Amino acid sequence: MQTKVNSLWQSIAQEGIGALLDRLSTQDAIDLAETYGTHNYKPLTVNIVRGEGAVLWDSEGKEYIDCIGCYSAVAHGHQNPAIIKAIEQQFERTTLVSRAVYTPETGLFLKGLAEYTGLDMVCPMNSGAEAVETCLKLARKWGYTKKGIEIGKAEIIVCSDNFHGRTTTIVGFNSEVQYNKFFGPYGPGFVVVPFGDLEAVKAAITPNTVAFMAEPIQAEGGIIIPPDGYLAGVRQLCDENNMLLIWDEVQTGFCRTGYKFGWQYEAAKPDLISVGKPLGGGFMPVSAAVGSKEVLEVFTPGDHGSTFGGNPLACVIGLAAMAEMENHDYVGKARRGEEVLLDGFKNLNSPLIKEIRGRGMLIGVEVNSDVDGAALSKNLVAEGLITKETRKRTFRFTPPIVTEVQLLQEIVARVGRALKKTEVGA
Ligand SMILES: *Cc1c(COP(=O)(O)O)cnc(C)c1O
Repeated sequence: MQTKVNSLWQSIAQEGIGALLDRLSTQDAIDLAETYGTHNYKPLTVNIVRGEGAVLWDSEGKEYIDCIGCYSAVAHGHQNPAIIKAIEQQFERTTLVSRAVYTPETGLFLKGLAEYTGLDMVCPMNSGAEAVETCLKLARKWGYTKKGIEIGKAEIIVCSDNFHGRTTTIVGFNSEVQYNKFFGPYGPGFVVVPFGDLEAVKAAITPNTVAFMAEPIQAEGGIIIPPDGYLAGVRQLCDENNMLLIWDEVQTGFCRTGYKFGWQYEAAKPDLISVGKPLGGGFMPVSAAVGSKEVLEVFTPGDHGSTFGGNPLACVIGLAAMAEMENHDYVGKARRGEEVLLDGFKNLNSPLIKEIRGRGMLIGVEVNSDVDGAALSKNLVAEGLITKETRKRTFRFTPPIVTEVQLLQEIVARVGRALKKTEVGA
């Protein structure tokens, strides 16, 4: 290992990066990551070297079905050929210029995303957390310049067990202690209420409230679906109190829940949304804040920005990703996936399962508190499934939306076998 690392630049010059990657074993990959990387993840001990559609292969040639789909970011499958084609064509043009100039790619992407979401205007960014931050800044400036709130007094209502990303502002209003305990002090201006509780939102509203922000379904929080009427209810509260409704659609957006966007389940049309994850087509981070002209127009030159936000390559990828979803009925595919997975898991009738929750292909399987989660995790990997627990002892099933029915059935069969093995203590 040591010699390989010492001669890294030389090896790259002589044989290329690909050949070097091919020579790394699973243990090499683990050692490198654990030695040189921060330990802010605890990965499965699997070394993935190739992907196609919903299938991943490790360096030993073992095949896995990807049930994480990079936390819903891989909706189009790994190495989607249509998106690769768009990328290859773009390599002949430009990939990274700056927002100091106009490019046709940026313009077309902004139009495409506005049309896709049914909203007016777009502020392009990169990661989901940046998109959320952008929404928060837009909401505050709207509050000061349009609602007339005294500068510095804006309040935004958010929900407990939320997941909106990892920036210092965002973790400051997260209720998961590990996310925020050691990273303060945090700025004021956020009021946390229980998710799914309309009365709590109502009680938290003051004359200084500029917005309510939540995920239509809490994904990282354990696939938590709010009670019926909640989405429409907060829309109504926002209307009555002249405040903005912000849906964080980074994970629920782009067909994942069997709707183009999670809010459509109750037609709770937002003033602002954050989008990201699958907008990058499985290739790179592409995110945005999208919303009504009334809100987005508050930004003036210099108010906000991002070096990479709206770059031509990202914009072409975003366009190709949306075109795939529109032209190949991803909504229908996600509903089909819901049928196969939800019904399939229920029919397993496993005594280990406490609850199965989900909409579309955003599905959580919560196991009973006495189940050995580590053992089940190991058995799932042994069966050739890549999945992990989110919070609340819930195993996540968010495979690519393009996953074929036969492969979805295979997921169910493998989960059944892993549960059985865990049940008998294997
Ligand atoms: C993943 C996620 C984010 C953060 O996205 P990053 O790209 O990791 O910054 C924000 N909101 C929701 C709902 C998410 O699921």
